[in-house]
Amino acid sequence: MVVDGSAWFDALGAQKDAPAPVHAMFALDDAAEPLPEPGPGEWLDIHQESGQTFDEFVRSAVRPPAGQRVIYLQPVDTQGALSSTCLATLASFAGAFFQLEVRVRPLLVLEPSSLVMRSAPDAGTPQVYAGDILARLYADKPRDAFCVLGITAHDLFPHPIVSFAFGEASATCRVGVVSVARYGPPFCEDAPGNRSGEMRTRCCRVLAHEIGHMAGLAHCIYFRCLMNGSSSLAESDRRPLHLCPIDLRKLQWLIGFDSVERYGCLQHLWRDVGEAAEAAWVAGRLHSAQAHRPPAPTLTGSLRAWA
Ligand SMILES: [Zn+2]
Ligand SMILES: [Zn+2]
Repeated sequence: MVVDGSAWFDALGAQKDAPAPVHAMFALDDAAEPLPEPGPGEWLDIHQESGQTFDEFVRSAVRPPAGQRVIYLQPVDTQGALSSTCLATLASFAGAFFQLEVRVRPLLVLEPSSLVMRSAPDAGTPQVYAGDILARLYADKPRDAFCVLGITAHDLFPHPIVSFAFGEASATCRVGVVSVARYGPPFCEDAPGNRSGEMRTRCCRVLAHEIGHMAGLAHCIYFRCLMNGSSSLAESDRRPLHLCPIDLRKLQWLIGFDSVERYGCLQHLWRDVGEAAEAAWVAGRLHSAQAHRPPAPTLTGSLRAWA
């Protein structure tokens, strides 16, 4: 289902309470693109989803207490599949995107006998049941964790009747796992010379999507958005690396970050790794958010407040 032209307006919630950067996104034509009708086989062509408004999110979401604001990234059986440079970039990205501390845990090597495995129905290659990894992550979850996200080289299946999953997460337990298996051969061929960049972008996208689910964000049906569902690598690649205004507002409400600071962190990150298009998009939002930021209190105003 794709929503009509005004449904996103209701989904955004009470306008007067929205933070300035969310207002700012609507002042620019290029900030949010409505989600087009799905093509055959695309996520919303085969899944009935009704969307999640800001008000619905607020009714169900649980803000993390002060002692549970660390995102843990846990490599799981990634030997040879994910470089330490890529892992460090993912940690920097998660920190900038969610404005929470990120810690990378040492590699976890699982006993094959502890995993339910099968042959992928669409490819015949080995697959691991995602629930087995989630259970292990939950058993080892640190007390100060906002969430734990496993990153694995195993191809995953979330349910016996589902062919594969790029990731799987539990919003209740705040544990999740993403797979990098389908970001390289035999499932896809990267463009020559762009191998690490393409892999990095895909990893960032799925990482933020699954942490978004752990934060309580449902799939987005309103705009082109990082929280759109996807049923193929091509559809996944069409998702932007950023949130629409509705999901940005939810995340800001949950974590309480300063949106201008967040955009500044993301701009530095994308410039450092050479992701020019995303850096330019963030620069536009940063400029607009700064313009809509309420002025800092002046000395005169402060003195008046004391009087
Ligand atoms: Zn999802
Ligand atoms: Zn969205």
